[in-house]
Amino acid sequence: MADAQRGITLVRGRTCNLKREGTEIRSGKLSAQIIIRNWELRIGNWKLFNFWVLYFRNFDAFKKMDTVKEILKKYWGYETFRPLQEEIIRSVVEGHDTLALLPTGGGKSVCFQVAGLYMDGICVVISPLIALMKEQVEGLRAKGIKAVAITSAMHKREIDIALDNCVYGDVRFLYMSPERLESEIVKVRLQRMKVNLIAVDEAHCISQWGYDFRPSYLKIAELRELLPNVTVLALTATATVEVVEEIEEKLLFKNGSVFQQSYERKNLAYVVLREEDKLKRLLKIATNVKGVGIVYVRNRRKTQEIASYLLSNGIGADFYHAGLDGPTRDRKQNEWTGNKTRVMVCTNAFGMGIDKADVRFVVHMDVPDSVEAYFQEAGRAGRDGRKAFAVLLYNEGDKVELNAAIEASYPSIEEIKQTYQALANYYQVATGAGLGVTFDFEISDFCDRYKLEPIRVFNCMKFIEREGYVALTDSFHQSSRVKIELNKEELYRFQVANKMYDAFIKLLLRSYTGFFDSFAKINEYELAKNGKTKVESIVTRLEYLHQNKIITYIPQTNLPQLTFTQERVDAKYLSLKKENFEVLKARAVKRMEWMVDYAESTHECRSKRLLAYFGETESYRCNICDVCLAENRKILHTEEFENISTQIKEWLALHPLELKELAAKITGTNDDKILHTIRVMIDTKMITHDGEGRLCLVVKK
Ligand code: ADP
Repeated sequence: MADAQRGITLVRGRTCNLKREGTEIRSGKLSAQIIIRNWELRIGNWKLFNFWVLYFRNFDAFKKMDTVKEILKKYWGYETFRPLQEEIIRSVVEGHDTLALLPTGGGKSVCFQVAGLYMDGICVVISPLIALMKEQVEGLRAKGIKAVAITSAMHKREIDIALDNCVYGDVRFLYMSPERLESEIVKVRLQRMKVNLIAVDEAHCISQWGYDFRPSYLKIAELRELLPNVTVLALTATATVEVVEEIEEKLLFKNGSVFQQSYERKNLAYVVLREEDKLKRLLKIATNVKGVGIVYVRNRRKTQEIASYLLSNGIGADFYHAGLDGPTRDRKQNEWTGNKTRVMVCTNAFGMGIDKADVRFVVHMDVPDSVEAYFQEAGRAGRDGRKAFAVLLYNEGDKVELNAAIEASYPSIEEIKQTYQALANYYQVATGAGLGVTFDFEISDFCDRYKLEPIRVFNCMKFIEREGYVALTDSFHQSSRVKIELNKEELYRFQVANKMYDAFIKLLLRSYTGFFDSFAKINEYELAKNGKTKVESIVTRLEYLHQNKIITYIPQTNLPQLTFTQERVDAKYLSLKKENFEVLKARAVKRMEWMVDYAESTHECRSKRLLAYFGETESYRCNICDVCLAENRKILHTEEFENISTQIKEWLALHPLELKELAAKITGTNDDKILHTIRVMIDTKMITHDGEGRLCLVVKK
């Protein structure tokens, strides 16, 4: 417990910080917890006062947290919580709307999953990515916990069955993409469920001005009206102070609590290298830094080119982007996670939900367009706490590319309207129709048909989506599914009356189970093999049975799904707010400029700068980034630093000393170098002031 809280700041509001560092003494024999805490009240940078508190926490809360620990142990096999997990769960269980800011891999999902299991009923999880939902649902099921996901890509009947299971069955987790909240059947059923918690994953997507706004997230406020007494737990890995406020406001937090873990990553060296020949430099990094790495690039084509370059130079590498089909992406990801591939060269499609602790380096070949994206991607290195590198390769050309990328991301309103019109024509959706209808969205086919450029279409689509006209899911693999719509007797009668289909139905029933109650996954190729026939013939039969309402057949897809979330309007009347458009563009430019400044700056510790962006203004110099190292080198070489710091540590291990006394004891160097070493050692928390004018060693707790 005490361990878990070290170095953590509990932040409320923008100006007032309540800093807490505490020791918690627990004993199984005691009927209460004794808690000793040191509280510190600050406004901005001013420390007003600090005080010690000793109090007893009641036995019930103590017991409650023990039960929560048992859940963690039983289902996950972990003995202890990660920093802040326990506090977040406690806050939620006690009924407070809570915002959890934990780094990626910090254990956010475990927070709502343990809290959801602790309370009776069902936990509704809102998540933006189908692939992540699928992964979590599978993970829970593997633990024997009933969980279902409802996505835009599902058939109406499937949704119906899944929702029924949530109302009448013992499902504990219902995952939903936010656009599903618009559907009437979902709303009605949700009210019939015993919802114990609403968990909002990737909560920063609700921020209209943030870097990853998703309009459908605004619908979550309606969910609150629908379920007024249910607590909300919002979770995200990256949020500035403004975004934190926006999340609380848009999710209608009532007396909410915010738990934020410091973004500081002591083992991660942020490095920016000005480099004309980025490829050569990458090769050098991949050769010198041992272990697994990720290389991020802006476009898909480059992923393949760079992976081939690394391979031809003897570095095990593969490439990954969202244009690959689902099974290929899964295979590549598994090979990398299982250390069969050493370096993955990818677009930003790679990374979400990846749980690999021992990544030793992340290299960015292009400058990402926001610090949030950069921080998340760079942060995938070194989660195991061992030294790792986050390297950004930069040159003058990057500025030009970033500017071009921003221009392309903000197409003209006219172009957006034309794209919407083309979509309506493509799917033949008449004005006033289409509400709630979902289609496969094959962007290349769409672009070929109307002679459009995919990247421009993609950017136009983002605006159409932002204004709430359509919702687009990420691409993922969905197997074919079948449900038999007759009961066993009716089906038998059908077989007797339709001899031609008798053998086929028998083949189906022999090959798979579970068709009568819900949808079962099938594989047309497997059926063709088992039935010694052609795939086409299997598909024709399935389609015939579907048309005659004997079965519902949903063919497989790898494609993203597009849903019309409003009735189709005449493109002329498409309302695209000009102010929105301009403010958004201005914000995007600001984010880009921040990244360029970061890349070009050579005077401020990289870690301090990144932390300040996320509102942590009191951080320490990291002493391992390129800026810190260059500064150290200007004054003294590494060996000299080692020599002086070792002497300092030895003297201070005996007893605290005043600066002058200490400096007098160090031999073989000069005063400037000693003072510099002391400054670095204070900055990096190796030594500190003891409050009585002396320097002493920092005791590691
Ligand atoms: P996030 O959602 O923040 O990215 P996850 O909840 O997926 O993180 O957790 C990341 C990894 O850490 C998972 O493998 C998870 O099982 C593990 N993990 C979570 N909580 C703990 C814990 N208390 N102890 C050990 N491992 C944990």
